[in-house]
Amino acid sequence: MAASRIVIENCAIATVDAHDTEYASGHVVVADNRIESVGAGPAPARLENVVRRIDGTGHLVTPGLVNTHHHFYQWLTRGLATDHNLFDWLVALYPTWARLDEPMVRTAAQGSLAMMVRGGVTTAMDHHYVYPRGTGDLSGAIIGAAAEMGVRFTLARGSMDRGTSDGGLPPDFAVESLDDALAATEKTIDAHHDASFDAMTQIAVAPCSPFSVSTELLKQGAELARRKGVRLHTHGSETVEEEQFCKELFGMGPTDYFESTGWLGSDVWMAHCVHMNDSDIAAFGRTGTGVAHCPSSNARLAAGIARVPDMLGAGVPVGLGVDGTASNESGELHTELRNALLINRLGARGESALNARQALRLGTYGGAQVLGRAGQIGSIEPGKLADLVLWKLDTLAHASIADPVTALVFGAAAPITLSLVNGRTVVEDSHLTTVDEDAIARSTRSEAQRLARIAATG
Ligand SMILES: [Zn+2]
Repeated sequence: MAASRIVIENCAIATVDAHDTEYASGHVVVADNRIESVGAGPAPARLENVVRRIDGTGHLVTPGLVNTHHHFYQWLTRGLATDHNLFDWLVALYPTWARLDEPMVRTAAQGSLAMMVRGGVTTAMDHHYVYPRGTGDLSGAIIGAAAEMGVRFTLARGSMDRGTSDGGLPPDFAVESLDDALAATEKTIDAHHDASFDAMTQIAVAPCSPFSVSTELLKQGAELARRKGVRLHTHGSETVEEEQFCKELFGMGPTDYFESTGWLGSDVWMAHCVHMNDSDIAAFGRTGTGVAHCPSSNARLAAGIARVPDMLGAGVPVGLGVDGTASNESGELHTELRNALLINRLGARGESALNARQALRLGTYGGAQVLGRAGQIGSIEPGKLADLVLWKLDTLAHASIADPVTALVFGAAAPITLSLVNGRTVVEDSHLTTVDEDAIARSTRSEAQRLARIAATG
């Protein structure tokens, strides 16, 4: 017997289930932290313990958005190196990032999460790979910020052990040793990973990229993840320069290199995957390796256009990612639905590359697949977790667009009347309910200034 129910009625619903079932006017009933029923017309009569009944007239309900790639710490270094490609941008920013401390990382996590959650994200992830020595419990600070906001969360515990003296890109002072990185990652899994159906916190093993980690860290990281039963994440095939780096150092392209280190599989997802040939895409499809597509960041750093339609055609699971806010200053995911659609139409497939429903699927069910949680989140179906968003589409911004999914994806960023995570309200009338947004804005400014000061002293 449900302790409490929330009933939403009179709204359009895009369930994003296997058949893309939609209702022009329907209902969703949430019982505790699960979706109890969804369908056309009003909710079943005589429901007990209804604590809230919402008239969703003029709204569209979708599954909550799932972000599959981010670097929260970059929140404090937005708007820098604005006209650089990836490698030049990284080299420009590494020295500043190496000065991060625990209060900065906590504030950056709060800011990054706040931007996403108030835009409809219900499951977030952070790929954090900068662990300067003696800076406190950075992973704990990030996980704490997500718990405080009430958002479902995957921390991809990152690492770098290939500094410039080993032919890598990051400066030596910004990297960990192989043994330290592996030990700290295992400790984070033991302390925080929850494998249960309604888990709010999960951990993934996430060495940063081929040009910042050793072959041994990739191999042993994959072994650690499989021993612990957690997922694996990294950056892959992001730029032409990365491809050249892999060919020069390893005598093969990134995808073959990943395969040789145990990094293709249905428990792996990679960010970007822009420079993939047909055989790379086929390898991802064959192995079930997932992709976090980050259209704005790829455009911002002039990395190129990922071949998302070809990936989907090959059966590759694809989700969307904001990427770090030093390469996507907006920090929002709901606008990436639109950017994914528009940018992919500039690629080889033209106007048939992606449609609005496919874009919505990337941002919801596709993200859930990529994070290994498609059985629990990513679509509105009875028995799944109650992570959903009520988008207001009857204002000036969308009122003349008849189809609600078209309005959401093609139109301006839609206001949110209600967002639920695990059945709990995190956004109400476009405002975060669990944290003080103005306080986060104030600490963002002061911590960003503190980091800039410390970095300037060298
Ligand atoms: Zn990234």
